[in-house]
Amino acid sequence: MLRCYIGLGSNQGDSKSIIAEVLKKLNGSTGIEVTGVAPLYRTAPQGYLEQDDFINTVAEINTTLSPLALLSALQQIETDLGRVRTVRWGPRTVDLDLLLYGDETIILPKLQVPHPRMHQRAFVMVPLADLNKELELSGERVSVTAKRLAGEQRIVKLDDMRLS
Ligand code: ADP
Ligand code: MG
Repeated sequence: MLRCYIGLGSNQGDSKSIIAEVLKKLNGSTGIEVTGVAPLYRTAPQGYLEQDDFINTVAEINTTLSPLALLSALQQIETDLGRVRTVRWGPRTVDLDLLLYGDETIILPKLQVPHPRMHQRAFVMVPLADLNKELELSGERVSVTAKRLAGEQRIVKLDDMRLS
């Protein structure tokens, strides 16, 4: 049994419901038990800026799955939930990233763990710090990284704000 952390993000459709559905499917997957979920955050898009804000959180799971089997399970959920029916298939509505797999380092063409960009992203590090304050990543406590990133990137805890 290994403890892992999964990053969840959505910026299309009813993001809150989509994330709730993802969590249900995760917990219902063979070999995966969801043991914790951070609060939801509204965050600014990164990279391609001409898109809506994201809703993000991080889930803590216990799993008996291998890293690649876990990645497949995440991708299956993305496929199941990640597209909205419009006139044609729309773009992906949910992104699931395998952030940490125990304390293992994995470098495969399809899978890099720890997720290579997680330590730069407030939308990952802030909810991760909510779940586990003791965690360290590249020699720094996640809570310290999270605090610094929260000062640099737009991120608002959803409970603390009113949505339109
Ligand atoms: P991103 O999550 O970087 O915005 P995508 O979700 O489109 O972009 O990237 C999906 C690809 O990333 C998949 O083909 C998958 O094999 C690869 N990948 C590499 N490492 C990871 C990881 N730790 N978690 C999820 N996908 C990963
Ligand atoms: Mg992804």
